[in-house]
Amino acid sequence: MEKRNIYMIAEIRKGLITQETYELLSFAGVIGKRGKTVFLLLGNNIEGQAREISQKSGCDTIVLFGRYLEHYNPLSYSHAIEEILQQEAAAWVCLPHTSMGYDLAPRLAVMLKAACITGVESACDGSLSRPIHSGRFIEEIVPKTPRVVVTVLPGAFHPCEETSGPAGSVTMKRAAFSDVSSLTLGISEPVQRDSALRDAEVIVSAGRGIGKKGNISLIKRLAAIFPGSAIGASRSACDLGWFERRQQIGTTGQTVSPRLYIACGISGAFQHLSGMRGAQTIVAINRDPRAPIFQVAHYGIVEDLETFIPLLIGEWKEKKYF
Ligand SMILES: Cc1cc2nc3c(=O)[nH]c(=O)nc-3n(C[C@H](O)[C@H](O)[C@H](O)COP(=O)(O)OP(=O)(O)OC[C@H]3O[C@@H](n4cnc5c(N)ncnc54)[C@H](O)[C@@H]3O)c2cc1C
Repeated sequence: MEKRNIYMIAEIRKGLITQETYELLSFAGVIGKRGKTVFLLLGNNIEGQAREISQKSGCDTIVLFGRYLEHYNPLSYSHAIEEILQQEAAAWVCLPHTSMGYDLAPRLAVMLKAACITGVESACDGSLSRPIHSGRFIEEIVPKTPRVVVTVLPGAFHPCEETSGPAGSVTMKRAAFSDVSSLTLGISEPVQRDSALRDAEVIVSAGRGIGKKGNISLIKRLAAIFPGSAIGASRSACDLGWFERRQQIGTTGQTVSPRLYIACGISGAFQHLSGMRGAQTIVAINRDPRAPIFQVAHYGIVEDLETFIPLLIGEWKEKKYF
């Protein structure tokens, strides 16, 4: 495989380096053993975060700073990154598949004349794999261009362990770009987070497959079996107005890692999986045996949930299993 250096675009949220950033390093370990790995960190007054990332990862870190980089902005970010990468004839440019990552990746790819491969969940021998058609198929792609821009699905790789070796170097570079029209003034958080979901040991989650609003009571009765449980939902179930947005689990909702996650009538699109695949035990109830959720489930029940859940609750009442 051709030698390519690996540039990982770090992400800062609420002043902290995100877990997805550290997952990029594990991905880098799989795609390139020969090139050097470098973090690029963009922002303003972020020396502290740069030191943290270089110490934890042992990687060299380049900080691109300036007023126009204080908050994510596609124009100023892509120009600043291009300035650094245009010297690299061949390179991997890796971003987390977050709203910043999948917004920035195609723009960067065009500027760098690079292939753009988004939503990657694994890699082997220079070939990248990603789920397509709501996770029913896995596509394998071998990039042919010298430069490649990749977004990596959150949760697909473990965050790197903290290194016991020396810290990497930190290089500060002021970004030259200064287009006033592109200044972002701030970032607001639209989604209200539900701390009950984050703290719950058991989450019962409902999807479009519950079929009607009236079946929410079925989900509530199932959740009531487990003391201290919480109810989550897929985006489709929230879009239908059956659940509140703060209950949504997935890429654009919450990331949870309970001891037990029971998915009821959820197909298992990768956007949902990325929010719950860290659960210790996953049980899926779905009447379609080919539903992608069964690829991550530890226990699968292929049955109509309107049949299975009342049976389970009845059994519990009789035998008090739980
Ligand atoms: C940018 C973007 C961000 C997204 N973010 C998220 C996110 O954060 N979270 C998220 O969940 N989704 C997200 N999505 C949407 C995601 O792609 C899927 O569309 C969504 O997760 C599907 O929800 P679902 O599984 O409830 O519905 P469906 O895909 O419609 O699946 C319903 C499932 O229920 C099963 N079923 C039907 N009836 C029954 C029955 N009676 N008994 C048992 N099983 C039954 C069916 O077999 C099917 O598998 C996002 C999409 C985009 C484009």
